[in-house]
Amino acid sequence: MSSKKGKLVLYSGASGVGKGTVFSGVKERNPNVRLSVSNTTRAPREGEIDGVHYNFVTPEEFERLIDLDGYLEYARYCGNYYGTPKKQVEDMLDAGFDVFLEIEVKGALQVMEKYPDILSIFIVPPSLGELERRLRSRGTEDEETILKRLEQAKEEMEYKDRYKFNVVNDDLQTAVDEVLNIIKGE
Ligand code: 5GP
Repeated sequence: MSSKKGKLVLYSGASGVGKGTVFSGVKERNPNVRLSVSNTTRAPREGEIDGVHYNFVTPEEFERLIDLDGYLEYARYCGNYYGTPKKQVEDMLDAGFDVFLEIEVKGALQVMEKYPDILSIFIVPPSLGELERRLRSRGTEDEETILKRLEQAKEEMEYKDRYKFNVVNDDLQTAVDEVLNIIKGE
C-alpha cells in the first residue's frame, strides 16, 4: 500500500465476543480510530445499515471486485463472503486515521502474510460458556446459526496466538483500556 500515515490494526475475535462494543469504547476515547466497512454477501441483521455496518452486496458484485483485485483480503465465513475493499482502507490511512480491520482469522492471516509487522489484536471471551450465553442473548440468530458460530469460534480460538496481543473481554472497561494502551504503545 502507498505511503501510510495512520496505523493498520488487525482486530479479530469470535462472533459474539463483544468486538464491536469494545471498539465503540475505544473510539469514544480515541477519535482518531476508524473501522473499515467490509463488503459482505450475508443478509443485514435487524438494525444494520447498508454502508455503515457493511456494504451488503450480491455474490456477483462481490466476485466482480475479486476479479478486479479490489480486496486487501477476503474470506468465506459460515457460507457468506466477507472482504475488505482496498481503496477505502488506503484512503482512511492516507487521511491519518488508525484503521481497525474487524475480520475473521482466515482473512487476518492473509493480511499478516502481506504485512508481517502489523499490529494485531485478538479479543478473547472469558470462557466458551460465556460466549454462548452472549450469542444467545443477542437474539439475532436462529439455533442453527448460533451452533455454527460457536463451532467456528472454537476453531478461531486456535489462532489466537498468531496475534501480537490477546485481550480478554470480561470487564468491558478493562478491555477498552487495554486496546487503547496497545495502540498508543505501538
Ligand atoms: P458477522 O456476520 O458476525 O458480522 O461477521 C462474521 C465474521 O466475519 C466476524 O468474525 C467478522 O469480524 C468477520 N468479518 C467482517 N468483515 C470481514 C472482512 O471484510 N473480511 C474478513 N475476512 N472477515 C470479516
